[in-house]
Amino acid sequence: MKSAIRDPAELCRELDLPAQIASRFSAESFRVFAPRGYVAKMVPGDPSDPLLLQVLPRSEETRQENGFVKDAVGDLDASLAPGLIHKYEGRVLLVATGACAIHCRYCFRRHFPYEATPRSLEAWRPAIERIASDNSVEEVILSGGDPLTLVDGLLEQLVCELERIPHLKRLRVHTRLPVVIPERVTSELLALLAGSRLTPIVVIHANHARELEGDVSIAVAKLIQAGVPVLNQAVLLRGVNDAVDSLTELSRALVNLRVMPYYLHQLDRVAGAGHFEVSVERGIELIEQLRARLPGYAVPRYVQEIAGESSKRVLA
Ligand SMILES: *Cc1c(COP(=O)(O)O)cnc(C)c1O
Ligand code: SF4
Repeated sequence: MKSAIRDPAELCRELDLPAQIASRFSAESFRVFAPRGYVAKMVPGDPSDPLLLQVLPRSEETRQENGFVKDAVGDLDASLAPGLIHKYEGRVLLVATGACAIHCRYCFRRHFPYEATPRSLEAWRPAIERIASDNSVEEVILSGGDPLTLVDGLLEQLVCELERIPHLKRLRVHTRLPVVIPERVTSELLALLAGSRLTPIVVIHANHARELEGDVSIAVAKLIQAGVPVLNQAVLLRGVNDAVDSLTELSRALVNLRVMPYYLHQLDRVAGAGHFEVSVERGIELIEQLRARLPGYAVPRYVQEIAGESSKRVLA
């Protein structure tokens, strides 16, 4: 993470692209953060590279668009304690840290008040107590930010606290790290997940088959060999994966790595991300085409998060 690219001009330079394609203004409101290994998978000289588009600050982000707001999914209303979000029965989401190993321009949490989220055992205490007091919660989802940006020691402290809560059965980790910095899947991390009393599930996030090249296969294989099921969630993004060939390749690459395509998310309408939106009609059409091409298990559920509903809404 220390060596990640944080300067838009440097990102362009690395890819032999003119610096003007990056918007300094957009980079000021949500800074650039792109790990070098991820950047190395981009095609130099291609301003519309699907990996580049996910991290490049563009002037379109400053466009005001109707219906695109800061808290697109009602997270602030569903917050029970600092960092704890309870929307769905049986599972809670813990924003374990605000830090990410990549800054995705379409992220629905790009305006989340991360300064206010806890990042130490003491700060997590109210959330842990709240989970302990609710017998209906079986599963904790570590999210963020990206929980795997925490050092193993801190993560272990958190998991130990959660293991002490008798009604908890499962620990889910939502992370982009195995994709963007696959070296993060260390033997210590594997021991922590595989050795936990809680059943571990890891949900990675890749939007394009090319993101899965290189050492990602090694990281994923280690998780699976350790007995950890790995699922993928992707976001339907204009210019990145809104074509049937691209989604087919993504699903193929995932299942060949033994990763189950879980969700394809409709973009959350967060301010600054309007240029990534694909219509729901087009999304449904894409899923129907995927279904005609792939085994059933390789077709993700196309879902949308709607504030106040009891689960994500399945669109197709
Ligand atoms: C998406 C989400 C979950 C997990 O939902 P699943 O359908 O179980 O994957 C849990 N809590 C919150 C707040 C979420 O946004
Ligand atoms: S929370 Fe996930 S989607 Fe958002 S910036 Fe971090 S890694 Fe990207």
